[in-house]
Amino acid sequence: MPEEGYHLEVFTEMAGGTLIKRGKDEPIRHILTDSRLHQAREGIVFFAIKTRRNDGHRYVKDLLERGVRHFVISDEAVAHHLEGANVILVSDTRVALQKLAGAHRARFQGPVLAITGSNGKTVVKEWLFQLLHRHRRVLRSPRSYNSQIGVPLSLWLLRPTHDMAIIEAGISQPGEMPHLAKMIQPQVGIFTNIGQAHQEHFAHIDQKINEKLHLFSGAETVIYCKDQREVHEALHARFDHTRTSLLSWSIQGDQSAHFCIHIAPTPEGTLLSGTYAGRKRKVNLAFTDSASVENACHCWLYLLHEGFSDRDIASGFAQLTPIAMRLEQLDGVLGSTVINDAYNSDFTSLEIALGQLGIQRKNSHHTAIVSDLVQTGEPPEQMYRRMADLIRSNGIHTFIGVGPGLCAHQHFFEGLETKFYSDTDDFLRNFHHRDFAQQNILVKGARRFAFERIAAILSEKTHETILEIDLSRIHENLNYLRSLLHPEVQVMVMVKAFAYGSGAYEVARTLEFYGVEYLAVAYADEGITLREAGIQMPIMVLNPELSTYDAMIRYKLEPQIFSFRTLRKFVDTLFAADSDWPYPIHLKINTGMNRLGFDLEEVEELGTFLASNEAVRVVSVFSHLAGSESTEFDALTHRQATRFEQAIQALQKQLTYDFKRHLLNSQGVFRHPQYQMDMVRIGLALYGISGNDTFRKHLKPVGRLVTSISQLRRVPPGEGVGYSPKQVLTEETEVAVIPIGYADGLPRALGNGVGHVLIRGHRRPFLGNICMDMAMVDVTGAGCREGDQVEVFGDRMDVYEMAENLGTIPYEVLTSVSQRVKRVYLHG
Ligand SMILES: *Cc1c(COP(=O)(O)O)cnc(C)c1O
Repeated sequence: MPEEGYHLEVFTEMAGGTLIKRGKDEPIRHILTDSRLHQAREGIVFFAIKTRRNDGHRYVKDLLERGVRHFVISDEAVAHHLEGANVILVSDTRVALQKLAGAHRARFQGPVLAITGSNGKTVVKEWLFQLLHRHRRVLRSPRSYNSQIGVPLSLWLLRPTHDMAIIEAGISQPGEMPHLAKMIQPQVGIFTNIGQAHQEHFAHIDQKINEKLHLFSGAETVIYCKDQREVHEALHARFDHTRTSLLSWSIQGDQSAHFCIHIAPTPEGTLLSGTYAGRKRKVNLAFTDSASVENACHCWLYLLHEGFSDRDIASGFAQLTPIAMRLEQLDGVLGSTVINDAYNSDFTSLEIALGQLGIQRKNSHHTAIVSDLVQTGEPPEQMYRRMADLIRSNGIHTFIGVGPGLCAHQHFFEGLETKFYSDTDDFLRNFHHRDFAQQNILVKGARRFAFERIAAILSEKTHETILEIDLSRIHENLNYLRSLLHPEVQVMVMVKAFAYGSGAYEVARTLEFYGVEYLAVAYADEGITLREAGIQMPIMVLNPELSTYDAMIRYKLEPQIFSFRTLRKFVDTLFAADSDWPYPIHLKINTGMNRLGFDLEEVEELGTFLASNEAVRVVSVFSHLAGSESTEFDALTHRQATRFEQAIQALQKQLTYDFKRHLLNSQGVFRHPQYQMDMVRIGLALYGISGNDTFRKHLKPVGRLVTSISQLRRVPPGEGVGYSPKQVLTEETEVAVIPIGYADGLPRALGNGVGHVLIRGHRRPFLGNICMDMAMVDVTGAGCREGDQVEVFGDRMDVYEMAENLGTIPYEVLTSVSQRVKRVYLHG
């Protein structure tokens, strides 16, 4: 792209569209596809993209009001909202975006390396960047921008100043890769590996490999691991050796691979050695796990193929760092929220992190603590001016710059409230907690500034036991659940009981962002907390106590009404309160659970009452299934559905307006899809848990309870461990003490071998009784060290299994994790 952007006519042609409305003539530089992430910037164009459930065309009017002046649309009907703007009409906006990116890519002279495979793509990409950036100016895809929309956005960042690009490509279903290949046009490819992820859309592993291989159709070189037989065979069946050279490595001693690599553990990590192009070579890697070794082998072969010297490779490998894939979000001191990204320092990742900060509503004051950018290759003057513009356009109130570069360019930040420090120590020496009360704070620094020290002091990480909540998995689970619903069916998510232990605000904010229609809480105070934190979407309260009606009305919370007593009392409160009528309510019908709800016999009287009442309006009518999870109760479920239908018909006769009907909870969605009606109420499945194997495969656990070993000791035979030691050890036993006990929500019933934890990949049983704040684990022969991480539940230690061991259900396990366990939120 020319430095100043593309001229409108050129842009229109590249996107394959027609300019149907003309506004200000200004070059186009930035692309926006997600209306929620808008920052007012000159030369920004909005692509109104349609997805299964949403349509960017809905937001064009709003974006025009917020200053966007260029639009690419496919529904001509919205053009009349866009007076004064440039409007480009295309037949499909997603295709247009891809065309544009392809045309932009085609103008780039340098080589493009594309990476695909099931796992390791991001790490290989980031490591190659770390290895190459001292020698070349490299563009790499930001974070995981690897999809049908992410890839074009990545390619769009290419500038003539780059020497090369590394682009990550991922697919979730058949048919997607050819589109990506056409845009990326890579000269070199790396196929990381093939695994089970996303298998559901593919009939067979070969189909999945072949789909991915579309990416390399025009490539000159493809690098892969020959130990993956399926990948090797698919590549050889497909590619003509005279046009594409297939470069393989092996760590399983396959001498026919181009590069047969020997791996040996060392005290510091792993030594890799092998013969390439007739010369013996070796390199040290500071990692030991098999995934890191595999990723490193790909990088090594790529560098050798590109002709890098052994010395350059060795010095690059010595500096490889672990890749933090996520932004961490934690509760900070004095009511603040901290977003921590202490490992990355390029411009695009700063932009993404600022976007994440921007959507936080808990506090109204936004603060960014940012270090000098390194590794950008851009002249400092230009770079810091751009940074200042970015900070301003993101509505940051306080900017804190750390590093000599930022100190020297303070003048660009005039007009903002600022502070500058020469280094991290300087910042910490002048640190006062009170300066950071009730703010949303971004901590974003290059690795060498060690900003994790700043994040730690802001978040008061004191306890070693944490519950990690992966918010991107909430989104993935939501997408999966939505894929099971008819497009018009709405979703209500249950965030009661602190969102099943996950943290009500953070989960609610994520759901609000992803367009869920309704939230539900158990009690009014839970809803009030969400409102005070800035959640604006509709919230239903399941168990509104009479004493809280006034507060509910003030906070626009919608009650579930389950009896005449509650209905009359609520109407009385409305008459007395100074609020708008009609007020939204939800009716609960008892169809067989026999808990709360109107009985079938009461429905007629209920209808009569409501038909003549102007104070309330029924938004929805619902009932709750007592046994949706099991065939044992299917007869009951169908009976409940029939009764519910009868109640609905009776109400419809009397009410003159429409209302929503809903019956299904998570297991109901899976097992009884015929009862989706207008809305479903999702709880457990959103948090990634299901008792049903078929559905469990598609869900990802959101919560992970982890701690670390405080002390290791050897206990001789004949002794016992902990309080009231019933078990006498028969052999010498290695015991790990971990700082988690029943006061943290680790049930005491798991003691004495009933439950397990995961340490160094091994399942290990609890030893003795679980104490209030501590527990002991038998780790004999596991090769543990003090400080090792311990998973109590998560990906490998299933909550379902833990619940079964305890004779309970996962709901109880999740909601028992005590509030003293710190929650740490991860973003994708
Ligand atoms: C908790 C709850 C749900 C959600 O149930 P899951 O099994 O977690 O999906 C749905 N409806 C009502 C009324 C609930 O109380």
